[in-house]
Amino acid sequence: SSQSALNFGAGPAKLPSEVLYDVQQEFLSYKNTGMSLIEMSHRSKEYMEINDNAEKAVRELLKVPSNYKILFLQGGGCGTFAAIPLNLMNRTGSADYAVTGTWSAKAAKEAAKYGKYSQNLRDREVFPDESTWTLNPNASYLYYCDNETVDGVEFPKIPNSHDVPLVADMSSIRCYIWRCPKNIGPSGVVVVIVREDLLGNAMKVCPSVLDFTHVAKEKSIHNTPSTFSVYVMEKVLQWIKKNGGVAAMQTQIVPLTIGSEVGLIYHFVGGKNGNESLEAKFVEEAEKLKMYQLKGHRSVGGIRASLYNAITVSDVELLVKFMVEFQKQYG
Ligand code: PMP
Repeated sequence: SSQSALNFGAGPAKLPSEVLYDVQQEFLSYKNTGMSLIEMSHRSKEYMEINDNAEKAVRELLKVPSNYKILFLQGGGCGTFAAIPLNLMNRTGSADYAVTGTWSAKAAKEAAKYGKYSQNLRDREVFPDESTWTLNPNASYLYYCDNETVDGVEFPKIPNSHDVPLVADMSSIRCYIWRCPKNIGPSGVVVVIVREDLLGNAMKVCPSVLDFTHVAKEKSIHNTPSTFSVYVMEKVLQWIKKNGGVAAMQTQIVPLTIGSEVGLIYHFVGGKNGNESLEAKFVEEAEKLKMYQLKGHRSVGGIRASLYNAITVSDVELLVKFMVEFQKQYG
């Protein structure tokens, strides 16, 4: 690999070097056209093919049933926080939010601009039993964030929303779904997967670029998409397929994330209770070994290592080895 840094960033995060190399090779002349892909019309046959292939790859990898639309939206995760109530809240005028950390709190705050919402849960460390939730059976949807990347709170399983549609922020699940800068491409693009019967309910004030129905009708080429991001994403999706698909992405890292290792990675310097100067030392020493982006989110501090699709077991082994040595020296 031409890259030598170990990037444990939470997003933008490491992408497969094979993909980066491939992009580099065809950057100046896409498929011998003499033009870069980023110079081509989004209505060109080259780009439309990329757009189609990206959609097909998502459908295949995630086994998305035919009654669900796959959309590529801009505006990142935070844009989608607004798009969700704008598209889905109108059915009953209210929504339920399971707030388990920073991102679901932000999503709930957006929703509050557009209708009534009830907030369930607020606990960073412990995940409360589902039987203790008070869900509104008339909610338009129940929203949850599968993995809170700032707080390190992950849902142990998909919550039971009974008959209420479920909306999940799957931004940072190892190869589930995906917001691009996490693990499937450059930032900005979001993959939205939505059941067809929920379409057609957008609020009047919903901007067309965020209107799922409109975007679905235009097959995600409703305006000029972030063509480069979708192009890189398509390559990453093909890379995932070639490397065993979703199941392989999930199992590959398991030996190092389940059990003691995850404890080691999450709690090594102690999160909120950590010693800040030791944390700074940790980051500094890690960088000497070309291990980057280990600093926790600016709102909580601490140390964080994100293990997305392109991170290999040997990357994690190097990190763990460094952590053990660091503890011996400074612990
Ligand atoms: N959801 C989760 C779980 C995230 O981790 C993030 C960003 N790290 C977001 C949403 C926000 O995404 P964006 O920066 O694309 O708006």
